[in-house]
Amino acid sequence: MRGAYDTEFARFASGKPPSVSPARDGRALTFCRPRTISETRDEGPPSGAYHEWNIAMRRKRKPLRRVDDLLAAGLISPERRAGIEAVAARYALALTADLADLVDAAERSDPIARQFIPDEAELASRPEESEDPIGDGVHSPVKGIVHRYPDRVLLKPVHVCAAYCRFCFRREVVGRERALSRAELDAAIAYIRAHCEIWEVILTGGDPLVLSARRLKELVAALAAIAHVKVIRVHSRVPVAEPSRVTAALARALRASGKATYVVLHANHARELTPAARAACARLVDAGIPMLSQSVLLRGINDDAAALGELMRALVECRIKPYYLHHGDLAPGTAHWRTSIGEGQALMRALRGRLSGLCQPTYVLDIPGGHGKSPIGPSYLAGVGGKNGTARYEVEDFNGHRHIYPPVAGAGNPGS
Ligand code: SF4
Repeated sequence: MRGAYDTEFARFASGKPPSVSPARDGRALTFCRPRTISETRDEGPPSGAYHEWNIAMRRKRKPLRRVDDLLAAGLISPERRAGIEAVAARYALALTADLADLVDAAERSDPIARQFIPDEAELASRPEESEDPIGDGVHSPVKGIVHRYPDRVLLKPVHVCAAYCRFCFRREVVGRERALSRAELDAAIAYIRAHCEIWEVILTGGDPLVLSARRLKELVAALAAIAHVKVIRVHSRVPVAEPSRVTAALARALRASGKATYVVLHANHARELTPAARAACARLVDAGIPMLSQSVLLRGINDDAAALGELMRALVECRIKPYYLHHGDLAPGTAHWRTSIGEGQALMRALRGRLSGLCQPTYVLDIPGGHGKSPIGPSYLAGVGGKNGTARYEVEDFNGHRHIYPPVAGAGNPGS
């Protein structure tokens, strides 16, 4: 198969078009097949014309946007068609060819399939669920802006994503509302310019990295021209959903002289960090863009200590610092994804001490109604009174043993 690959590359290098379409029906071609870890382990960072050609080929592959596409790709059985049609009529559907390649269609509980292929359970909403579960609307002074916290705003230039997560907290909006018009974007930037307290702008959506490098460059330049904006943060799933979009040009477009740009990757399972996704993240980090991650705690995907730990370690290995582990938001039709907060806290305890501090995200809840995020991880500290003006505490170590702090003089401090 490598021979076919080289033949196609030779055609590319000599300026000829590919002899075979690299679209989904070309799955047999080697460049359409995700390579295994052992096939890529000894490769250096991808570079050069061969790599650029590989990216160009992957970019041509079409996303799966219709139920018929899922059927044709063998990702769902014909018996599920009617149910999935009903879900797709209600919520946006798309997964990229890269993600489709990762799906193990024979396994209904496959963590990639479950995140992106609609499920009939999405049609069942609960009374506590809301179309705006984190209260964006309450804090939106102009279209495209959410100003919830004093020193930062969200700017949502698009409501389109490379792939639609079935548990999305903005599922009533993404894939439905159009992008901001030029006038609306100008008004949003004018709002940021007029509010000197805004230190950080968070580009989100939708997924801002579906924009072209040219449009991103314009947007970043407009924000960078505002003196009080010091930090631009981009929230994206693109490095895992469509790694080939993360080109050197896109990385350059996100940089602005004198400002700090961060990219926060959304990833929920270690399998999303394929060699191509890791290379995409490396292109960003190597371009001087620090990366953080956010993950959603999802039943059946990452709600066990082994899966969660493997994800956090994989992120750190990619030079991505785990930032947030979100408790599932009360978005309509997502109850089947949510764990209890107690389960989430138990998982955080399981990570603490057993995994490097680099691998510890903050477990957070977005309080419904727009009240912002609060950390909801377990507490390791309890007040136990004190004497002579000195407060005394009981602090728990990672083995579950408790200790008095400050220690009582002469009493030692054995764990209990
Ligand atoms: S990438 Fe983000 S905004 Fe888009 S569907 Fe997934 S969770 Fe929602």
